[in-house]
Amino acid sequence: QLSVTGIIRRFGPVAALGGVDLDVAEGEFLTILGPSGSGKTTLLKAIAGFEIPDEGAVRLGGQDVTLAPPRSREVGMVFQNYALFPHMSVAQNIAFPLEMRRRPRAEVRERVAEALRLVELDSFGDRLPRQLSGGQQQRVALARAIVFNPRLLLLDEPFGALDRKLRESLQLEVRRLQRRLKLTTLFITHDQEEALIMSDRIAVMDKGRIQQIGLPGELYARPASRFVADFLGESN
Ligand code: ATP
Repeated sequence: QLSVTGIIRRFGPVAALGGVDLDVAEGEFLTILGPSGSGKTTLLKAIAGFEIPDEGAVRLGGQDVTLAPPRSREVGMVFQNYALFPHMSVAQNIAFPLEMRRRPRAEVRERVAEALRLVELDSFGDRLPRQLSGGQQQRVALARAIVFNPRLLLLDEPFGALDRKLRESLQLEVRRLQRRLKLTTLFITHDQEEALIMSDRIAVMDKGRIQQIGLPGELYARPASRFVADFLGESN
């Protein structure tokens, strides 16, 4: 579904991405795990179209989208600081990607209602974001990211700002939803435990490169390098 080949992105002397290859299968939940500054967000931006790589290619569903504008890629995204539109209601926020695509009004209404149901916020459509808790706001952001049936869902530390209990319940909720909708998902975290709980596969990133990729159990049983072993062994 998603195929990244040989991606390089330099910022002056720094190579934020130093040649990344990555394939994510349809319906797979793949986690990019790595320390701060390892290039995770830059990789996600290149896939979403907010960064144009200096070299390499991004393919989605067999189509080369390396230079395509973000909106044409049909990718849903959720970030750490949810960035809902503060002056719009929850329902208007979720409807936004559909309005941008000029979907008919009846379809918008139906899809927004369905998305609200999926994140269990049926009765919250008329509220403003600031009238919701942090966890509820993240669920709205998730609903907005999936309402247009994206080809790919990108999650950049979506639980980073939440307390532990809320994090755990949202981890389960996101995974349930992802499985149910068979969404191809790329998830970023620096939290080893979170990666272990959630992922079909984990790619460990450091210094702009993927150091190892595999099933969670494989990585723990057979880390390919000292870095991977040490990083997985750390608790934070
Ligand atoms: P974090 O977990 O802290 O968000 P990250 O793994 O997502 O880190 P990136 O944000 O991708 O890392 O950054 C990778 C490297 O590229 C860092 O050294 C960063 O300083 C650098 N970098 C990223 N964006 C820019 C930019 N726009 N200009 C200059 N340097 C940048």
